[in-house]
This record gives sequence, C-alpha cells and structure tokens, in this order.
Amino acid sequence: MKRKKQRKIGAKTLRPESLMMSYGYDPALSEGAIKSPIFQTSTFVFRSAEEGKKFFELAYGLREKKPGETMGLIYSRLNNPDIEILEDRLTVWDDAEACASFESGMAAIATTLFAYLRPGDVVLHSVPVYGGTDFLLYRILLEHGVKAIGFRAHEGPEGFRRVVDALGDDRKRVAMVYVETPANPTNALVDIRACAALAKSLGMHNGRRVPVVVDNTFLGPLWQRPLEHGADLVVYSATKFLGGHSDLIAGAVLGAKEWLDPVRTYRTILGTMCGPWTAWLLMRSLETLKLRMTSAMKNARYVADFLADHPKVQRVHYLGHLKEGDPEYELFHRQCLAPGSIVSFEVVGGEAECFRLLNALQLIKLAVSLGGTESLASHPSTMTHSDIAPDDQRAMGITSSMIRLSVGIEHPEDQIADLAQALDAI
Ligand SMILES: *Cc1c(COP(=O)(O)O)cnc(C)c1O
Repeated sequence: MKRKKQRKIGAKTLRPESLMMSYGYDPALSEGAIKSPIFQTSTFVFRSAEEGKKFFELAYGLREKKPGETMGLIYSRLNNPDIEILEDRLTVWDDAEACASFESGMAAIATTLFAYLRPGDVVLHSVPVYGGTDFLLYRILLEHGVKAIGFRAHEGPEGFRRVVDALGDDRKRVAMVYVETPANPTNALVDIRACAALAKSLGMHNGRRVPVVVDNTFLGPLWQRPLEHGADLVVYSATKFLGGHSDLIAGAVLGAKEWLDPVRTYRTILGTMCGPWTAWLLMRSLETLKLRMTSAMKNARYVADFLADHPKVQRVHYLGHLKEGDPEYELFHRQCLAPGSIVSFEVVGGEAECFRLLNALQLIKLAVSLGGTESLASHPSTMTHSDIAPDDQRAMGITSSMIRLSVGIEHPEDQIADLAQALDAI
C-alpha cells in the first residue's frame, strides 16, 4: 500500500511535531477522512489470486521486492494500516529506519531478547532495570539457558569494564548489551557510547556483532536519542510518554531494518504485535507528544527546585540539578537533550514519613507508572522495587525515604501546593 511520506516542503525538512498529523497517511485511501479510521479487521480481501500470491511471496521473503513494488495487506498479525502508519510516525522521532510496535513494553522487550539470545548466550545489562525486564532476564531467560550479568549504572564505564574483565570464558558468549538509562528511580546515567564501544570490542572477540539495546522509556525520543549514540535498537514502553494519557499499554522497538528484521519475524510468529485500536490511540497521542513532554519537563524543574529547598527533603535526584564537576555532568550534556520529568527525592525520615506524605496528596495521584498527563507519586522500595533485597536496594541507591514523582502537565504552582501541604503532613 502506497502512503504519503512527505518530510520536506521544498528544501525545508519538517520537524517531527509537524508530521504527526499526516505522515504515512493518505486521506484519499479512506473516503477523505482527516484521521486514519480504525481498521478493526483481522484479514484483508485480495483483488485477485495473483495478488494474494504476490503478497505472500514478499511477506515470506520468497523473492526480493521489484523496484517500486509495495507490500500489500494480508492479515493483521502480519500488517494493518493503523499499525503501519503508527510505526512510520514513530520512526520520525528517533530518526530510525524501521519500527515494530507491540501490545506492551514487555512484549517489545521480550520479543527483542528472544530474537537475539540463544541457549548458552550471555546478556550484559545495566543495573537496575525495570522489574519486568529483571524477571525476564533472571527467571524466564535463565530457564532457556541464557545468563544475565549486570553492571551498576552509577559505577560508569569503569564498572562496565570491570564486569567485562571478570567474564573470563563467558566473554566469548556475550550476545547483547542491554541498557536502561536514566536508571529508575535514581536517575543514574549509563554512557551509551561507551557501551557501544565495548560491545564492538566484544563482538570482535567472539566473531559476531553484539547489539546494544537501549530502553529509552524514561526520557523518550524528545530528550534522548540512543541511535545517535551508537545503540542498535531502542525499545519503549509506549504505555508511558508515547501514550501519555494513562489509558493504554503498548511498546515499540526501533532501529536499522537489518537489526529490526529478526524482531519483526519473531513478532509475527509470537503474535505480540500491537492491535489497531491501540495503534490508533497512540497516533492520537503522538500529535501532542512534544507539547506534553515539554510542559512536563518544564514543570519538573519548578518542582525539583521547590523540593531541593524544602527542609523536610534530604536529597533530590533530578538530572537538571547536575552541576559542572559532578561525575555525570559531562555525560548528561553529551547524551541527553533535557532532564525529563521524573524527579525522585528523599524525605527526612523513612517509610512512615513517605507514607504520610503519599497519603496526604490531593492532586498528585498515588500510583506506579509514569509519563502521563497527570502527576504520579510512588514509594519504590515497597512498591516497584520491593522484590529487590534490601542490601541490593541500598547498593542501587534506593532508600526507604525515597519517593518517585512523575511530574505531569498540571499547573506547576498547583503541583507545588499539593507537595507543600503533603510535606507539612509528615
Ligand atoms: C513500564 C516500563 C516497561 C514495561 O512496559 P509495559 O508497557 O508496562 O509492558 C519497561 N521498561 C520501562 C523503563 C518501563 O518504565
């Protein structure tokens, strides 16, 4: 199916936010509808048996595409207009060659890991990673003979190198480097470029290319673009900023076609693709992605400044507060485009004080997740990170006095008023 993919007016390249209302969609194919309809259909009618044969030849890779030939629609586990338009639009933000969308972030991550890891392989990963990813690595993939080895985000490239040096014979078996940066909930940064260099040297060692996969959920494509720093694949929980309204669960993987193709094949067979309704909701969300993320990012600075000055707050973990001379300052400015809108802070006291604060909030909601229009607060050590042993929590910098805030798009003075009265309640 040929769809409109205009990215320029004359010599002028259009910005992603200008393309989100039109890119990849041709109204003439849908009765002139300004928005893509929801193609809530399982299968597509071929115009002729010959056409059906041709589509399958391309879908199954039985022959190469002829010049100008396009793939046709077959069946919604293989392709669907809403999913294709969504994927085209997502490639714009990360300037990626290709995208595959999924029905959840975990589906995106699991499909990617299964596409690249085999029994006997080793996956190196930053610590901490998202709880679901941790379970996938240490419970599910372990049962499939894959060994996961972590390196601590806050120890920087030296920590990574130490882990690699300690690998011994395992060094030959490294098949992927998996990175989550900034780390949740501490905002510790991992140097993507340094990981890419080490993956390259490991690949030379074991005679195969070792992909670097980056979970970019926390900063999103607005504030960090891992592909530009040497990542091979970038994964998202689209449930968070990309979706942005706390009303859907979805995921995405982006990168060069060559890296994405195995992930796509696994997706087709595992059936982890995104549905047309989810794809349609995400297209709606992408129209306001820049507005939402910019507003939340600006608000987060006001909130972080307020917290940093508050006598009942011991410490604020916010990328925007890094100062020249801080170990992560240079990396932040090299790798990130803005500090995002996740602010963690430690109150004076512990769990009891945190709970009093959380229970007193009136505007900010007490919930896990992040990246939605509304502000959310949670207590990582007893909620999202509660299955991590206390010693390991401490080593990661997660304390019982820590609260994680996902700053939303409410008026910042109202967000601060709510936090001020809740801090008074401690
Ligand atoms: C939420 C999240 C995931 C999992 O995504 P789902 O959409 O919930 O499956 C993965 N990584 C990070 C960093 C997340 O925040």
